[in-house]
Amino acid sequence: MWIDLLTLFPEMFSGVFGNSILKRAQDNGLLRIEATNIRDFARDKHRSVDDKPYGGGVGMVMMCQPFFDAVESLQQQKPEVDEIILLTPQGQKFDQQLAERLARKQRLILMAGHYEGFDERIRTNLATMEISIGDYVLTGGEIPAMIVVDTIARLVPGVLGSAESHLEESFGENGENGENLLEYPQYTRPSDFRGMEVPEVLLSGNHERIRKWRLDQARERTRQRRPDLLNETE
Ligand code: SAM
Repeated sequence: MWIDLLTLFPEMFSGVFGNSILKRAQDNGLLRIEATNIRDFARDKHRSVDDKPYGGGVGMVMMCQPFFDAVESLQQQKPEVDEIILLTPQGQKFDQQLAERLARKQRLILMAGHYEGFDERIRTNLATMEISIGDYVLTGGEIPAMIVVDTIARLVPGVLGSAESHLEESFGENGENGENLLEYPQYTRPSDFRGMEVPEVLLSGNHERIRKWRLDQARERTRQRRPDLLNETE
């Protein structure tokens, strides 16, 4: 999978994507992530990418031309771009189902905004979808882009090793009959830490009992914390 990020701050991505699992995936050729400075596509001597809003008002608006030029330049390369994603608090709310859908694509472009956001024509005539990471407003689209890319990338086959499987995780249709459950509680050594003991069943070695205990715990936890998830799969 190939993901291009259009941003004013490409250097922000190097820490997040230059370490750990996503670095290994890029080194192994499973992922290609490239951050391009949108300012490289500015045409004036000040390298402007934003301007005052028509009609007045506070703040600056990101201009059409650098984004249209940048996307058109990326589109010259194969494979074809599947989605051009605008990061905006006004977009479709990002969740695991959307991540799974995007993880099946070959090539994505993500556009990170700043200031007051984008000229509306970028939304209507360039973006193919709009994503919000939640009902709150950040200063820029870089952190939302990192969240979206990280979530998608770990679903790409081969990116996680078997020791890091996502199949039993929260939001992953991990119950019986495709239930969408939060993950069961996990423990590691020691079995007794300051008098806090690991449930006996996990030490029993009885795989069927452990499987049932985990399923019960996942269901109970979901019922208590996120009953909305159970309703979705009923
Ligand atoms: N004025 C815009 C509005 O009210 O919708 C908010 C602009 S915000 C300060 C600047 C940029 O941060 C946005 O263009 C977007 O790229 C990004 N951003 C902020 N919050 C976001 C969120 N919840 N989800 C996705 N992107 C977000």
